[in-house]
Amino acid sequence: MEGKVCQSCAMPLIKEEEFATNLDGSKNEEYCIYCLKDGNFVANQTMEEMVEFCIPFVYKEGEGKSIDEVRKDMLTYYKTLKRWKEN
Ligand SMILES: [Zn+2]
Repeated sequence: MEGKVCQSCAMPLIKEEEFATNLDGSKNEEYCIYCLKDGNFVANQTMEEMVEFCIPFVYKEGEGKSIDEVRKDMLTYYKTLKRWKEN
């Protein structure tokens, strides 16, 4: 089974306290606490802004990929996430 990732920032959702909350305080299984709070997105960002924000967490020097390649991969991947998926 594939692990859950936040459908906004792609952070792996592992720990119970990393899951977002719905408006009624129940657990939201699709987003992390940094993206969604009480059923609302914390920041009103575009997908590109989200990728730029997340690059420092994903990009690691010396892993063979340039930062531009990492960015390109992330943009491709983020497009598949629920928040950014085109209808
Ligand atoms: Zn998130």
